[in-house]
Amino acid sequence: MASSIIGTPKLQVYACPHCGETINTTMQRCTFCSRLIHPEQAAQAAAEMSHISAACNQASLLKIAATGEGIQVVVRLFIHSTAFGKAENLIILSAVTFTVMHWWRKYGDIQTTDPDYAPAKKSVIAVTAATVILLPAAILMTFIL
Ligand SMILES: [Zn+2]
Repeated sequence: MASSIIGTPKLQVYACPHCGETINTTMQRCTFCSRLIHPEQAAQAAAEMSHISAACNQASLLKIAATGEGIQVVVRLFIHSTAFGKAENLIILSAVTFTVMHWWRKYGDIQTTDPDYAPAKKSVIAVTAATVILLPAAILMTFIL
């Protein structure tokens, strides 16, 4: 079981493998269905839930970053932008692209019925498509326009 920095066992939540209700890793028996929970089963389920949660959180941040940068690139196409502004777009879009590639490598093949994962994956697909368009646009704006 994972421990926090003060040495006590870290409380993690996960879906009961028997009834699907959310319980935590300190429970030896599910409070909803009363079935016994094996500690290793609990730890594995908690780790999986934590992984899915991280995937969804990072997908949400990517969507926010890509939307903001997309708006900036489009606005800078129509108004004069300083070299600093263009370089800023390029740097941030490069970081978004790197993070998108990292997301696909780390979370892209998760097999789960978690209802939050599918919309998160769809938003990363949209961000991936946006970066395929926006990154070349930012490179063009920085070095050619
Ligand atoms: Zn249960």
